[in-house]
Amino acid sequence: MITYLAIVFLVLILVIAYFGIKFLIHQKSISIDEINNEKCSLCRNKLNKNKLIVREVFDVKVFFFCKNCIVNLHNELTQKKIDN
Ligand SMILES: [Zn+2]
Repeated sequence: MITYLAIVFLVLILVIAYFGIKFLIHQKSISIDEINNEKCSLCRNKLNKNKLIVREVFDVKVFFFCKNCIVNLHNELTQKKIDN
């Protein structure tokens, strides 16, 4: 009887440990994704940091720009040059 209880207890601990570790790994992967993602300062789309251009203004404000916004800005500027 005691052996039976000990086995049940051991299995219970193993199950809790398994789900605990699974939960921790899941949470870690989410937080790494959150750290690597940043919102574009213009269109507010959330993208991976290595797909964004970073610019600091007066060492305080940090702006992130995505490829689409930079292309749009470039097109807008080119359009202005044609107009003038
Ligand atoms: Zn953008």
